[in-house]
Amino acid sequence: MLDLTNIPVVDNHCHPVLLNQHLDALSFRAYCTEATHASFAEQHIPNTVYYRWLLRQMALFYGCEYTEESILTARNHMGADDLLEHLFRAANIDTFVLDPAYPPGSECYTPERMGQLGHCRTAKMLRLETLMQELILEHADFDDVLEHYMMEVSLAREHGFCALKSIVAYRTGLHISEWSKDEAVASFVEARTEAEARGQIRIAHKPLIDYLLHTAFSVAAEQQLPIQFHTGYGDSDTDMRLGNPLQLRDVLERRDYHTMPIVLLHESYPYTQLGAYLAAVYPHVYFDLSYAIPFVDKLEMLAFTRQALSVAPVSKLMFSTDGIHIPEMHWVGALRGRSVIGQVLDEMIDADEIDEEQAYDLAQQILHDNAYTVYQL
Ligand SMILES: [Zn+2]
Repeated sequence: MLDLTNIPVVDNHCHPVLLNQHLDALSFRAYCTEATHASFAEQHIPNTVYYRWLLRQMALFYGCEYTEESILTARNHMGADDLLEHLFRAANIDTFVLDPAYPPGSECYTPERMGQLGHCRTAKMLRLETLMQELILEHADFDDVLEHYMMEVSLAREHGFCALKSIVAYRTGLHISEWSKDEAVASFVEARTEAEARGQIRIAHKPLIDYLLHTAFSVAAEQQLPIQFHTGYGDSDTDMRLGNPLQLRDVLERRDYHTMPIVLLHESYPYTQLGAYLAAVYPHVYFDLSYAIPFVDKLEMLAFTRQALSVAPVSKLMFSTDGIHIPEMHWVGALRGRSVIGQVLDEMIDADEIDEEQAYDLAQQILHDNAYTVYQL
């Protein structure tokens, strides 16, 4: 059995955790699902296999009885700082690559503080749709938005971001089209009207969002700046039909974007084979393997890990947790990732595909080295 516990992980996609970690059972459960209806926390989450496994790991870690009540009492008894420090240390983290755009910063530990408590490095990415929304609220003129937007994207590295991120799959879908500037301006006028009327905006205006994404791609390609795309599994806000990574074809085919590394997040679950295929044929496509979220059990994690390793070059694969809200996610994602990747590599040794030395080398690439290269850490 391969033991990967000594490889410090680069978590190439995760989020900050909440400052308030004192949680009752229903709120804790609500952070363990992408379902938002109240009936899930009440009735269904305790009946998912991954949740039962999570509780068992927590009972072992906190040295308490294996009941939800005593587990939550034990965790709530620790201060939030202690909780983060214990869990992150146990996870053996090298670097967190954080998307600080969600949850809202005022509710969360800062990336810097997460790094201190985890005794690890942190890096950040810049979420484009959040930037778009801020600028649309601030400027009444499209050219002003465009100018400030291009400047922020150009200065991303100087401002401490190692990558861009897009959640367009949650809005208008991954089929990002090319629009004329006139079409983008017309779409901006609609967005701006909405912003003025409501004092806030949720950008879902396709010509505008697509136009601004292409603008960012040009800048990113010049600077070899990577971009992460949410693909596949999300809450019901995402139309999964539009989150299929094959929808990115027009963007992937653009030769002038080939210097912009593209990372498909969340193993594109359940489109894993399709995403891994894209990483196998496009030189600039990388594939994220995420082990806390999507919320699936180990058997499904083994399946997507087998698919990714069997289809894509291992130099294209990167580990993450997508941990968010509670530090248990980052911790458990690291445990799961090492154990699942180790088990799949063991199977590949048994199948006489690789030997043990090669298996360790491949694990080191996925858990650590590839992210260093892609994000220039
Ligand atoms: Zn995420």
